Amino acid sequence: MSQLAYRRVLLKLSGEALMGDEDYGIDPKVIHRLAAEVIEAQAAGAEVALVIGGGNIFRGAGLAAGGMDRVTGDQMGMLATVINALAMQDALEKLGAKVRVMSAIKINDVCEDYIRRRAIRHLEKGRITIFAAGTGNPFFTTDSGAALRAIEIGADLLLKATKVDGVYDSDPKKNPGATRFDRLSYDEVLGRDLQVMDTAAFALARDSDLPLRIFDMEQPGQLLRILKGEPIGTLVQG
Ligand code: UDP
Repeated sequence: MSQLAYRRVLLKLSGEALMGDEDYGIDPKVIHRLAAEVIEAQAAGAEVALVIGGGNIFRGAGLAAGGMDRVTGDQMGMLATVINALAMQDALEKLGAKVRVMSAIKINDVCEDYIRRRAIRHLEKGRITIFAAGTGNPFFTTDSGAALRAIEIGADLLLKATKVDGVYDSDPKKNPGATRFDRLSYDEVLGRDLQVMDTAAFALARDSDLPLRIFDMEQPGQLLRILKGEPIGTLVQG
């Protein structure tokens, strides 16, 4: 078997990660590359679960700012994550992977319902398992969905892919002198008011001692290198 540092991981991708250089939706080339990297990680011996956001299509807060009822907007956002999950399922299957999509809201004609024990079974059988529709509740985000599912399935690590190569003491796009942290404790993140995940997601991770690694997945090959134990990005743990 593998020489990996982690056995079971959950990778959170934002919806925007699927857009590439587009303004909206999904760039087929980008989702293909991401799918190939996920398969590479899984082929190396990891059990890989995915949570994908919906921000490339709809966000409830944005819709509410335009006058829509917030709960309806959030439901649209959750459905957007299902669309992204189906696109990722297709991209993974085209590359030969076994995949299951499990949704937190019932849409039985297009995917399975999320059932924790079944999800763990899928992972044990080597199926890449995509958790769609976040937590299933409005006023949450897919970061919270990712933290929740990672804890439920007993993931060893929650990987959060971003466009920046880790957590900095200030915005590196605005401040060229910004310093990146290799490691942080949960308390340091809170004490320095650093943006790692939204508050609800971070609280869940901290309460369950779930280690987080924030990294840049636009750099090819990073996912597998992290699973092999390379200290890429920023590790947050107790
Ligand atoms: N959403 C929700 N509950 C959840 C997860 C997501 O209501 O548990 C909605 C919310 O409107 C959110 C949208 O789905 O804005 C898309 O998710 P998110 O913003 O987390 O996507 P990302 O920013 O990661 O692309």
